[in-house]
Amino acid sequence: MSSLPPIESTVITGQQPGPHLLILGGVHGDEYEPMAAIRKLITLIKPAEFSGKVTLVPVLNQPAYERCQRCGPDELDLARTFPGALDGSITEQIAHQATQLIQSADYLIDLHTGGVISDLAPFSGYCLHSDPAILETQRTMARAFGLPVVWGTTATLEGRSLSAARDANVPAIYAEWGGGSQCNATAVSGYASGCLQVMSALGMRNEPVPEQPIQYEIEDNRDQSGHLQLHNSAPVSGFFEPAIQLMDTVQAGDTLGTICSPLGDEVTSIKASQTGVVLGIRTLPYVKQNEWLVVILETDHSAS
Ligand SMILES: [Zn+2]
Repeated sequence: MSSLPPIESTVITGQQPGPHLLILGGVHGDEYEPMAAIRKLITLIKPAEFSGKVTLVPVLNQPAYERCQRCGPDELDLARTFPGALDGSITEQIAHQATQLIQSADYLIDLHTGGVISDLAPFSGYCLHSDPAILETQRTMARAFGLPVVWGTTATLEGRSLSAARDANVPAIYAEWGGGSQCNATAVSGYASGCLQVMSALGMRNEPVPEQPIQYEIEDNRDQSGHLQLHNSAPVSGFFEPAIQLMDTVQAGDTLGTICSPLGDEVTSIKASQTGVVLGIRTLPYVKQNEWLVVILETDHSAS
């Protein structure tokens, strides 16, 4: 039996009937902008001004939050643990409860950041769902969120909230923005408005969705696309100094930064393994071998 208390959430019901939107934050315990944005939404969403129901979960992974870490005490990554297990470890139990919540919803938005170790440029993403109607709804939601990058990636990644949504045929998007041991106020308000704009796009609010330019809209159906931690990892442990900034364009082979020894007498140059736009940079200087350093959105590879 599960020993876990129910997930802490706020449910706001609109005065008119309509769909049920679930907004998740804190899947990872060290990602603060989503938590603050969802708290803000609790005050912004007025029952008289929308139709349907919104369930808001600012901190899904409470045990990880209390450790200021990505993962809880069992060291399982919640975003690799869905659909979880009722009688499993603490993270498996949270995944199980969250899966039931996702199955009860009509739409899902899952908000993330780079966590304490990294900073991410704003983007929204979805999986390339095999059902064309769900895929189109996900595209609409991701575009309406209003971020400069929209990224559709393989539907084959498992263990995510989006995998649980995919299996339940619940249209779902995620977003990434910020991180790096702070709570970026621009990301907080951008996340709150993004969620409201998705509600408008889904017909839950009467407000028009503002026209916002999308700089890059990429669909990449290769195996493992969207797995952020896969590329440009540290060949050695040491002190990482990036030589690029978020949203820089890079060519494969360009220098992304260096990793050096404490005295600086051993310096390893880090070269880009892909051509594209820098979406994420590790900001915590000490890095262990094989940890990721830079996320590049491959702008020369788009396939549906
Ligand atoms: Zn995350």
